[in-house]
Amino acid sequence: MPIYKAPVEDVLFLLDDVFQVGRYDNLPGFADASSDVRAAILGEAGKFCEQVLAPLNRPGDKEGCTRHGDGSVTTPKGFKEAFKQYSDGGWMGISAPEELGGQGLPGALTVAVNEMMGSANMAFSMYAGLTQGALSALIRHGTAEQKAAYVPEMVAGRWTGTMNLTEPDCGTDLGLLRTKAVRQSDGSYKLFGTKIFISAGEHDLSENIVHLVLARLEGAPPGIRGVSLFVVPKLLPQAGRPPSRPNGVTCGSIEEKMGIHGNATCVMNYDGATGWLVGEENHGINAMFTMMNGARLGVGVQGLALSEVAYQNAAAYAKDRLQGRALTGAKFPDKAADPIIVHPDVRRVLMTIRAFNEAARALVLWTALQGDIAHRSGDDKTRQAADDHLGLLTPVIKGVLTDVGFANTVLAQQIYGGHGYIAEHGMEQFVRDARIAMMYEGTNGIQALDLVGRKLPKDGGRALQAFFGEVSAYMSEKSADEKMKPYTGALATGVGHLQQATAWFMQNALAKPDNAGAGATDYMHLFGLVALGYMWCRIAEAANAKLAGADADTARMQAKLVTARFFMERMLPDTAAHLGRIRAGAASVMELPSEAF
Ligand SMILES: Cc1cc2nc3c(=O)[nH]c(=O)nc-3n(C[C@H](O)[C@H](O)[C@H](O)COP(=O)(O)OP(=O)(O)OC[C@H]3O[C@@H](n4cnc5c(N)ncnc54)[C@H](O)[C@@H]3O)c2cc1C
Repeated sequence: MPIYKAPVEDVLFLLDDVFQVGRYDNLPGFADASSDVRAAILGEAGKFCEQVLAPLNRPGDKEGCTRHGDGSVTTPKGFKEAFKQYSDGGWMGISAPEELGGQGLPGALTVAVNEMMGSANMAFSMYAGLTQGALSALIRHGTAEQKAAYVPEMVAGRWTGTMNLTEPDCGTDLGLLRTKAVRQSDGSYKLFGTKIFISAGEHDLSENIVHLVLARLEGAPPGIRGVSLFVVPKLLPQAGRPPSRPNGVTCGSIEEKMGIHGNATCVMNYDGATGWLVGEENHGINAMFTMMNGARLGVGVQGLALSEVAYQNAAAYAKDRLQGRALTGAKFPDKAADPIIVHPDVRRVLMTIRAFNEAARALVLWTALQGDIAHRSGDDKTRQAADDHLGLLTPVIKGVLTDVGFANTVLAQQIYGGHGYIAEHGMEQFVRDARIAMMYEGTNGIQALDLVGRKLPKDGGRALQAFFGEVSAYMSEKSADEKMKPYTGALATGVGHLQQATAWFMQNALAKPDNAGAGATDYMHLFGLVALGYMWCRIAEAANAKLAGADADTARMQAKLVTARFFMERMLPDTAAHLGRIRAGAASVMELPSEAF
């Protein structure tokens, strides 16, 4: 049975010492989340994940979901009780507005809890994650009636949410979608069509399921400009009574798939289901983007979550498994062999995963805090800057954390040798589960194109300039600090490569867009390395400060500094290779005719 220990201490170190969240106490909800409250919430969440969700992960993978003849779907044994515990604990709405039944606490706390849930049981965590995504769209774009009807029920976990975009002929290109919406005289709409791959589309965890559905109104313009968003409940709400009237939306089948077996991936049939418009007609994509951006960050967190749990298991195994002797002579001569953790190549792998995880967690929390500022600050300029950060970093977090997160589950599996390939240790499940995160919520190739094609040029490059401005200001502020030189020096090289890559695109990709398309994934990963390098500088700075203070936490802080050095020496230099590939341009990528493939 795989192990899992929630990284509560690390999250608290990041929030308290690295990002000093006390600085944001002027924002609504932050003062209520004092240091003690944060520790209590994260501690409880950690226990729930370790003791309730993690033990359900392997059995849930084996059993999977079952669709019955009447279209109902049963989740694996134990999921229903765990979901009730999750809902009763108020976890769904820790960051939802208080006036709608939530606790109004910082979104950064929800993100930290979601990482733990993803590590403990990714399939289970998706039922909650999709509900939180649907909630964000309804809270931002719903009418007062819609908010009153749906949000409190969803915050309480009595109803869950879904996101219905994909159709058989419409995946990345949402402009192709065909699901039809027909206006009714009472202001509602009837929806007709088929959606596929709908996560949590049908299940037995909640009393009702609230589908957010993209559809096209009759006579709407073609393409993405003719798409509208609708809220379509599985059971129609009835004032003062639990809903019981079915609404013409049913689960036609569930997919057999590589991983996340405990999460039902459904074909949803809309046969004249009643829906209500969310936001404006033909502007559905704006409202959907609210949900998709939150979901993209959530999926990035899944990459980190799987990388973390895979690392913890690989580290434990490496300390236990006896094979061979250390190159420098036996470390445990009394044993038949040394544990494999003595071997530099095994340590290289563990350090690679660890150095990614700890910085990725920082990047996610930093960005979640920017999300809080973007939604809660009273100052327009501050809100704007935070929103810029969020827009720029969202594709980086989604794409990089899931690409690397998946690669790390494979690396961690490798530590087990052949024992990682068989099911017994649970490592192959982490690999299978992590794989989807690179594909859904927009494939990672699309994240890279979003970064290069939309986010870089947006508003004259304002967000990117602000990012460069912040990192450069940080490096010059620390330039005289001897203790920081090993970190800031390496970061300066990485930042230089990112600036050169950006300049290369400006000179070579405007007239030849294939150059941007061919280099986009490298650019995204180059950006990710620089962002993670910046996080390591911030972590090292906080670790040095802690080591110099009364509450030194010496072993943990020194480990941070060593891991920071490893990242700078052995991971950040990959920026040069990414820059080299970007500069190679699209020629060899595009030269062969399609028939040659
Ligand atoms: C388990 C699972 C759960 C899912 N959950 C949901 C859900 O809850 N709701 C929902 O609506 N959808 C969901 N999806 C669908 C998922 O979001 C899509 O599969 C994904 O967006 C990609 O669409 P597609 O599969 O049609 O691939 P396609 O769009 O056909 O893409 C195929 C390949 O072409 C590339 N490509 C496509 N267009 C371009 C382009 N313009 N430039 C460069 N490359 C391009 C892609 O990167 C990809 O590699 C889920 C899918 C799975 C498998």
